[in-house]
Amino acid sequence: MDFNLNDEQQMYVETVRRFVKGEILPHILEIEKKHLFPYDIIKKAWEMGILNLSIPKSVKGYEIDPVSSALIIKELSYGDTGISTSAMCNDLANVVIAQQGSEEQQQRFLGPFAKAPLIASFCLTEPGAGSDNSSMTTFIQKGSSGRYILNGAKCFITNANFASQFTVFCKVGKPASQLMGCVIVPADSMAKNDPVLSKAENFELNALSGGKITIGKPEDKLGQRLSNTASVTFEDVVIDDGQIIGDRRLGFKYLVEVLDFARPMVAAIGVGLARRALDVTIEYTRQRKQFGQRICDLPVARETLVAMWKKVELADLALMKAAVKVQEKAEDRGMYSSLAKNVAAEAAIFCANEGLHLHGGYGFMSEYEISKLARDAHIIDIYEGVREVQHMIIGRELV
Ligand SMILES: Cc1cc2nc3c(=O)[nH]c(=O)nc-3n(C[C@H](O)[C@H](O)[C@H](O)COP(=O)(O)OP(=O)(O)OC[C@H]3O[C@@H](n4cnc5c(N)ncnc54)[C@H](O)[C@@H]3O)c2cc1C
Repeated sequence: MDFNLNDEQQMYVETVRRFVKGEILPHILEIEKKHLFPYDIIKKAWEMGILNLSIPKSVKGYEIDPVSSALIIKELSYGDTGISTSAMCNDLANVVIAQQGSEEQQQRFLGPFAKAPLIASFCLTEPGAGSDNSSMTTFIQKGSSGRYILNGAKCFITNANFASQFTVFCKVGKPASQLMGCVIVPADSMAKNDPVLSKAENFELNALSGGKITIGKPEDKLGQRLSNTASVTFEDVVIDDGQIIGDRRLGFKYLVEVLDFARPMVAAIGVGLARRALDVTIEYTRQRKQFGQRICDLPVARETLVAMWKKVELADLALMKAAVKVQEKAEDRGMYSSLAKNVAAEAAIFCANEGLHLHGGYGFMSEYEISKLARDAHIIDIYEGVREVQHMIIGRELV
């Protein structure tokens, strides 16, 4: 495993760093307070080519490898993990089309993302099916026309108020079916770039193939307030054969492959946040003096800084190993993806909490970025599978 970045990776890292330094960090506390989706920043990210990383070159995408994707997401997350979550979510939703879709499906469902800064949602979680996603009840069933009809409700869906396309995991035949499928649902219009609409109550979209999609009011969240989250309900949405990805009975297998790819990306979000927490804390403790010394020179405080640094570096190593395993399609990539996600979430929470502590009372004030980082960190240990689910995956592989 070579830790040196190649020229292309170096270019990505420098480009995203410049973007974060110029476009995100200077206003982050101000824009985060508004709790509105920063479509202008997402659009700029698309223009710069750091969105839709997994779209194949055959559909005019960038087809960026998993290691380079992790590097890009890590740098973007250093700026804000709400923004990087929303940006990464396009790949979370679309990678199954790149991995399992036919050429025609890739043109139809990925092509538009290469042409315009569109937003996608990945719809797995339901009110009654979180960690245990196999208990979902959203389902497709053949209607009288001979075509499949999709019905069901999803919750906590990232980007939902702005999405023009939904990747939906669902049961096949009936809600209690053992079979899971994956369908793609493009919609006609969306709250898209309108921050006012995005604050509205429920609104309805028409699925392009027929049927209704109801999008809930944006969730009011503790952290990652720049990423949009809402419920999505599908009502008699017509699904033609071309909207079913791969084999309609193999959705669970596809889901595992998507999550193996995506968990290192969540780890990248954690490492980016952890490093930002470390940097703002070093900066603060260099400035602030107590007992006649800079806080960073007080031995116990210095020890905390070292502990934070160790967490960041170890999480970064776990991330890179997982990204390489995914890139090489290694048999054991799943357990390394879970390891990276857990270690990075732990690093993010530890660095944000300890960093806040080293800021003293100032860390509790919303004008200090560390207070936002502490709010943002918690979800990294939850979305795309809570810590205990990652343990289940690792444990299963071990024995
Ligand atoms: C901001 C945000 C964005 C999200 N984005 C998306 C998205 O885009 N698409 C999507 O489909 N979903 C999304 N989610 C959903 C997310 O993936 C789920 O919240 C997560 O998987 C946990 O499910 P749950 O909330 O139902 O918790 P539950 O499954 O109810 O778990 C609650 C707690 O129970 C414990 N627990 C659960 N299972 C076990 C176990 N096997 N062993 C021991 N303890 C256990 C854990 O402590 C866990 O934290 C998002 C969630 C949030 C909050």
